[in-house]
Amino acid sequence: MSATLIDGKARAAALRETVAAAVGRLKKDAGLEPGLAVVLVGEDPASKVYVANKARLTRECGMRSIEHILPEETSQADLIALVETLNADPGVDGILVQMPLPAHIDSDAVVLAIDPEKDVDGLHPVNAGLIVLGKPGLIPCTPQGCVILAKEALAEKTGGDLSGLDALVVGRSILVGKPVALLLQNENCTVTMAHSRTRDLETACRKADILVAAVGRPKMIRGDWIKPGACVIDVGINRIDAPERGEGKTRLVGDVDFEAASEIAGQITPVPGGVGPMTIACLLANAVRAACRRRGLAEPDLD
Ligand code: NDP
Repeated sequence: MSATLIDGKARAAALRETVAAAVGRLKKDAGLEPGLAVVLVGEDPASKVYVANKARLTRECGMRSIEHILPEETSQADLIALVETLNADPGVDGILVQMPLPAHIDSDAVVLAIDPEKDVDGLHPVNAGLIVLGKPGLIPCTPQGCVILAKEALAEKTGGDLSGLDALVVGRSILVGKPVALLLQNENCTVTMAHSRTRDLETACRKADILVAAVGRPKMIRGDWIKPGACVIDVGINRIDAPERGEGKTRLVGDVDFEAASEIAGQITPVPGGVGPMTIACLLANAVRAACRRRGLAEPDLD
C-alpha cells in the first residue's frame, strides 16, 4: 500500500475531545449544559445500536442526552407533536430524528417540523439552503466529516486550501452527495457530480484530485480509475459475504476497491474506520454550535 491511510477513528476521537473541552468551558463560564435529543421510532436493530452510541458519546462529551424511543406504530401526528415539544424545550439544543422512519411516516414532513436552529442533522431545507448560499448554518454530519478529512489529508500539500482542485462526488443524495459537493464548492474546488446516469464514470474519476464516493455499491470504483496521488474519501458502507472468515461470515467494504486504490491514491479512508466515526463526532459538534448560537454566545472553534 503506498497511499497514506486517513484514520477517521483517531480524528473523530480528537474532535470529540475538542467538543468535550468546549462543553466544559460552556458549563464553567456560562452555566450551560447543551442537550441533544434523539428520537427513534421502531425496532430497527442497526438504528438502535446507532442511537445508543450517540447517547453514550453525548454523555461522554459532558452534554445531556435525551432519548425518546417510540413504538413502530407511532403516528406521524404524534411524532411531529413530540418534535414540537422538543422545539419548545429550552433545555434541548439539538434534535435528531433517526432515519429511516417506518413507511407510514413522511420523513420530509418530520424534518420540516424540526426548528432549523436545532436541526443538528442539517437536513431542514433552511440549513440545506444556507449551504447553497455558503452561509453558516448546521451542516449535515457525514458531509462535514468528509471535508474535514479531505482538508487535513491534503494539508501538507495544500496548506489546508483546496482552491482549484478537481473534486468528483459520486452520488447525489440529499444526505451525502449533494451537500458534500456544495461544501467542496464552497472550498473553491472545481466540483463534478456523478450519479447513476453518468455516462463515463471512469474518465471522471481519472481527473479527480479529490474523489468522494457515496453510492452504496461494494467496490464499484476500481483502483485503476483513481488519479495517481488523489485523495479518496469513501463514504460507502456495504456488507458483503466473507467466506474466507468462515461459513456465513460477512464484512464491511466501501464503494471503492480499497486494496487496489490504496496502491495508486495519495491518501485514502478505510471502511470501516474512515468517514463513519466522523459522523457522530460532527453531530456532537453541531449540538454545541446550536447551543451557542441559540443563546448568542461566541461559538467555539470545533473543526
Ligand atoms: P443513496 O442510495 O441515497 O444515494 C446513492 C447515490 O448513488 C445516488 O445518487 C445514485 O444515483 C448513485 N448511484 C447509484 N448507482 C450508481 C452508479 N452505478 N454509478 C454512479 N452513481 C450511482 O445513498 P446515500 O447517499 O444515503 O449513501 C451512500 C452510501 O454511503 C451508502 O453505502 C450508505 O450506507 C453510506 N453512508 C455512510 C454514512 C457514514 O456515516 N459513513 C452516512 C450515510 C450514508 P441516482 O441519484 O441517479 O439514483
